[in-house]
Amino acid sequence: MKTITEAQRDIPVAGESDLLVIGGGLAGVAAAVAAARSGVSVTLLEKSCVLGGLATLGHVCVYLPIDDGIGHKIHGGLAEELMHVCSRYSYNTIPDCWKSGPARVDPSSPRYSATFNIPACILAIDEFMRDEHVNVVFDTAFCMPIMDGNTCRGVIVENKSGRTAYLARMIIDSTGDSDVLYRAGADCELRKNVVSHWTYEIDMDYIRNGSTSNDVLQNIRMRWFGLRPDVDNSGSDIPMLYGTTSEDVNEYLRISRSLALEYLKKNQRDGYAMLTLPFIPQFRMTRRLKGLKEMDLTAGVNVNSSIGCVVHSLEAPGAVYEFPYEALIDGRITNIAAAGRMVSAGGYGWEIMRCIPNCVLTGQASGTAAALAIRAGCTLQEVDIPALQNSLADTGVMIHMYDELRNNGNLPPIKRKSISTAPGAIQNSLSKH
Ligand SMILES: Cc1cc2nc3c(=O)[nH]c(=O)nc-3n(C[C@H](O)[C@H](O)[C@H](O)COP(=O)(O)OP(=O)(O)OC[C@H]3O[C@@H](n4cnc5c(N)ncnc54)[C@H](O)[C@@H]3O)c2cc1C
Repeated sequence: MKTITEAQRDIPVAGESDLLVIGGGLAGVAAAVAAARSGVSVTLLEKSCVLGGLATLGHVCVYLPIDDGIGHKIHGGLAEELMHVCSRYSYNTIPDCWKSGPARVDPSSPRYSATFNIPACILAIDEFMRDEHVNVVFDTAFCMPIMDGNTCRGVIVENKSGRTAYLARMIIDSTGDSDVLYRAGADCELRKNVVSHWTYEIDMDYIRNGSTSNDVLQNIRMRWFGLRPDVDNSGSDIPMLYGTTSEDVNEYLRISRSLALEYLKKNQRDGYAMLTLPFIPQFRMTRRLKGLKEMDLTAGVNVNSSIGCVVHSLEAPGAVYEFPYEALIDGRITNIAAAGRMVSAGGYGWEIMRCIPNCVLTGQASGTAAALAIRAGCTLQEVDIPALQNSLADTGVMIHMYDELRNNGNLPPIKRKSISTAPGAIQNSLSKH
């Protein structure tokens, strides 16, 4: 590839804080709030103009369950709190039996999950961040980490003011794509994605049906374009894309928009309206950290360094795993932690960790760990893990599955069911959302 040399120059330092969070998806939101609540100053840099990432800009307005499917609440802490924030100013689909957040309900109860309204969620998260004293800087794209050996001193960004720097003692990479860790030299794994594209639409037949049920959600329909992840796509002429290069992002946009336009040309009629297009590519798993440890699905539920239990959505009731702290960090870089869909979990573990509640859990854990490291003046590798676990448990995070159940009194042990790794089994119900 042809190259040019960028001229060396001085650039202004636009801000300094204890912690920088790069990327304001729900994982970044959780990381920033957790750290701010621990008493450190936090700046969150987001390249778009809203928070929520895939959950808002990408139309994924389905907060998958935080219970295990057989009556036990698994996620507390920010994973539970953010579900309620997302549902605060519009329809609230959280089942009545879960609304007050009990530890246990009847095993046949509906799942503790929510479908939320995207604009209302965006506004609620803005308010949440203001209330939690997080300094959010929108429309600001991370470009490069400023490395000093194995330590990151801050980041170079681009926005309307031009090229500037933000400095901090700790950094959290919640870009979804490991952009910060990768550019800082961390080992990462790539995965290809199907091109799929959701839009929401209304038509008069739906509105007439919805008005009889008095349920506003009945008036809105989701339409899926492109490939489904739960079928064999090998015969398709739509390519699989990594989503980590400009070429892939532009190819995704070209294909997905032309599919939507083709549909509109054939189906546009009076009484029909496409409501919105997703404003970021709907890539699921792109580039993840290969951390100091990987999440291990065969390790059972006694992970010493667990930062919390995670559940796999809808397909595997009773399947619960403990997630190790070391899967949030690299072995060499002293002060950048991962949060969200890019943490260190390979194979089927990656599928599990990209679900919104699990992304929020890792956000909360990385923000809390960064705050502990700032206060102790240590590296992320030196964080006192029992202190981290105590801080998280104090907010309602369930660190160890069986201990927590025992402490809550006489609950029956949960039997972990084996789960199929066949693509169809993984994606069937996800693919509806
Ligand atoms: C099609 C599809 C369907 C899904 N269905 C469900 C579902 O039904 N339920 C569920 O729970 N999960 C679902 N998921 C998964 C879930 O939506 C995501 O994994 C989760 O929302 C990821 O959150 P995150 O914060 O880790 O990352 P993201 O939401 O990707 O957030 C990353 C943020 O970083 C910002 N950013 C990126 N690069 C930069 C940069 N250079 N500088 C500054 N900011 C940057 C982005 O703008 C974005 O705001 C689905 C995902 C897809 C794609």
